[in-house]
Amino acid sequence: MSSSSCPFCRIVAREAPASIIHETETVLAFHDLNPRAPTHVLLIPKEHVRDVRELEDRHGGMLADLFQAAAHIANAERIDDSGWRLVANVGADAGQSVFHLHLHLLGGRPMSWPPG
Ligand code: 5GP
Ligand code: ZN
Repeated sequence: MSSSSCPFCRIVAREAPASIIHETETVLAFHDLNPRAPTHVLLIPKEHVRDVRELEDRHGGMLADLFQAAAHIANAERIDDSGWRLVANVGADAGQSVFHLHLHLLGGRPMSWPPG
């Protein structure tokens, strides 16, 4: 998929609006349009990567940035004490609907395990 037709690439390019709360050289984080928890933030690489299956060795630094950004945001959102969850949906059974790699950061309420 080209960047012009990918909704998250459009957010990276500032061609589509988003509530951006954190940005690094490689990562962007913004509020999910349809929040499923009091804190529901999406963390994405600025580079278009379709999903976890497309990751390569050269993405190691970006992946570290993604997780560090998640920890930073969880701290800023004051959900460190109560706990939080990171989710990467991959493919149909997981319900992936946007095909640009993203982590969901969810918190602010108790969550069941395993997910339904
Ligand atoms: P997936 O189901 O692919 O793991 O998650 C995609 C998520 O992206 C969904 O939670 C959905 O609400 C969110 N989403 C889809 N399009 C947009 C958008 O244009 N802006 C924002 N902020 N979130 C979006
Ligand atoms: Zn994209």
